[in-house]
Amino acid sequence: MEVRLLAHTPEPDAIVAASARICYSNITSGELLQGEEENLSQKLIANLFTSGHLSTFEHVSFTFGIDGLSRVASHQLVRHRIASFSQQSQRYVKMSDDVVIPPSVKANPEALSLFQEQADSAHDAYKLLTEKFNIPKEDARFILPHGHATNLVMTMNARELHHFFRLRLCRRAQWEIHELARKMLILVREKAPVLFAKAGPSCIFGKCEESRSCNQPYRDMEELLTCSKN
Ligand SMILES: Cc1cc2nc3c(=O)[nH]c(=O)nc-3n(C[C@H](O)[C@H](O)[C@H](O)COP(=O)(O)OP(=O)(O)OC[C@H]3O[C@@H](n4cnc5c(N)ncnc54)[C@H](O)[C@@H]3O)c2cc1C
Repeated sequence: MEVRLLAHTPEPDAIVAASARICYSNITSGELLQGEEENLSQKLIANLFTSGHLSTFEHVSFTFGIDGLSRVASHQLVRHRIASFSQQSQRYVKMSDDVVIPPSVKANPEALSLFQEQADSAHDAYKLLTEKFNIPKEDARFILPHGHATNLVMTMNARELHHFFRLRLCRRAQWEIHELARKMLILVREKAPVLFAKAGPSCIFGKCEESRSCNQPYRDMEELLTCSKN
């Protein structure tokens, strides 16, 4: 899977701090971005986060290009309703034979051989249906494996990203969406280090909220950012 940050609101940390400042001071929007003090913005954003004044986080968005994600994971991803998606169409695009192979399958040579055989067979059938029988792509796609790879563009604002990281970076999250979330967090921290100084599942904030806890809280952000389930 490849994840790229395609675009983002310029100066995300400053915009969130400015949007909070308009709530608490007698200044016009024209003055908001002038003379910002970085340490004050950091404190302000930390307070917004802990107090739950999170509408301020909605003013900045991040657009990701995601390639080679399985349809299994993209189905979970599009359940996040406060995001915008544009996904490669299986009605209009002729599908390749790319399939995502889970690590558990890769680790077992016999299982891997079975998996590949079945995936190849499905892709061969797709090819025959479209080329030999002239079945429309939108119908032939029914035979494709659930693990078939897809490409999409997705935009989330910073509030939704925090919510997404909370759910999907939990150690108990499914491995592929966990890996996607981990890569996204690394990318957004480069552009908005204050906004995402801390992000992730509840254990990173001190207390696990999972009903079935893994009992392995992340030690710190470094462990969270390097912990791949892939
Ligand atoms: C570990 C795990 C297991 C899961 N298992 C299943 C499963 O077995 N079956 C299944 O179907 N799904 C499952 N899901 C998906 C889950 O139910 C959610 O659809 C998904 O996580 C998106 O979360 P969300 O609705 O909070 O987020 P978003 O859609 O991103 O919304 C963000 C927040 O906005 C608010 N919001 C959004 N829409 C509404 C609304 N219509 N009304 C009120 N508030 C709203 C809520 O506060 C919500 O938390 C699972 C998710 C996880 C993380």
